[in-house]
Amino acid sequence: MKYFDYAATTPPYPDVVRTMTEIMETQFGNASSIHGYGERADQLLRRARTGCAAAIGVKADEIVFTSGATESNNLAIKGAALRYSSRGKHIITTATEHASVYESVLQLQQWGWDVTFIPVDSTGVVTAEQVVKAVRSDTVLVSLMHVNNETGAIHPVEEIGNLLKKNAPRVLFHVDGVQGFGKVHVAPAKWKADLYSLSAHKVRGPKGAGLLYVRSGVELTPLLSGGSQEHGLRAGTENTALIVGMAKAMRIATERQIDFSSRIRLLRDRVMKTIASIPELELNSTQDGAPHIVHFSYPAMKAEVALHTLEQFGCTVSTQSACSSRSAEPSRVLLAMGRDVACASGGLRISFGDEHTEEDAAMLEKALHQMVAQLRPLERR
Ligand code: PMP
Repeated sequence: MKYFDYAATTPPYPDVVRTMTEIMETQFGNASSIHGYGERADQLLRRARTGCAAAIGVKADEIVFTSGATESNNLAIKGAALRYSSRGKHIITTATEHASVYESVLQLQQWGWDVTFIPVDSTGVVTAEQVVKAVRSDTVLVSLMHVNNETGAIHPVEEIGNLLKKNAPRVLFHVDGVQGFGKVHVAPAKWKADLYSLSAHKVRGPKGAGLLYVRSGVELTPLLSGGSQEHGLRAGTENTALIVGMAKAMRIATERQIDFSSRIRLLRDRVMKTIASIPELELNSTQDGAPHIVHFSYPAMKAEVALHTLEQFGCTVSTQSACSSRSAEPSRVLLAMGRDVACASGGLRISFGDEHTEEDAAMLEKALHQMVAQLRPLERR
């Protein structure tokens, strides 16, 4: 069985697992303790913080460790909204955000904030002009993703950040960077992002570790009450082992990004070409999207039937994103891109990782042909 669901999660590098195991066994101190055990844990955290910061080109004291990007996104959005509510209660986002952003803004809506969802075009992106046009005098935050987790569509974050800060410098800019980091070039400071979320498990680090970059000078209302860890922004004893594992995975991802991108893009392109050649299938990803994601629909078939058929032919792919794939609803992302319900209900995502080869892509192409041949007689018309 071949795993083509790296956008959902990745297998941690064996070296990352070894390092984390060693830390759990030998460096179990609480980084806040002032004795030797604590100091050693604190030193590991400091080194990890410097490493994570270097991987995204920011300062170490701008990194807040979290339990993953869901928490980072919640902290960025609700933390900024609560802290700056005296400036206004309007938030701008897009129609295709990850559930952790979408549900966060919906919760703020219930608490009295006003939210503008900018529509995306048929390829799934918004323009900088659309974002700036949506800004009002009471806008406090723009939150959007770099790379879409379902389709791989890339928002022009650098253009958006620059135009936003030129026109409305007081409006905070949050980027959910989870699917872009390690796959395409990232530079949150250059994009003028104030807040930037990452997750370790998408780049062969551990699950349950993430970070939020908080630009110096930006304040947030913490969501957890407790100790003063993480500059007072995230109470709770830091998980030294997972954080060191994340730093290691992030360093490797940064070192290999250019190589990964050019090699994996070739695999993606050949699989895209195959999908385009099968009349039953419709591509939802475009050439200029992220190098590791191909999304397509089989409108005449339920997505889970297609998924299990591909599995029968040895390939594990995904329906929608892992976070939404157990819901029977059509994809919110595809509907926002203007696809009809059949297309939005028959969506499948293939996502590549650094271990994939030309042979894997060939196997996947064969499985796609076999799947359609097997399902053709069962198509709903
Ligand atoms: N944002 C995006 C774009 C994602 O793809 C994910 C993971 N599916 C998350 C946020 C949430 O990350 P985590 O699993 O670390 O909570």
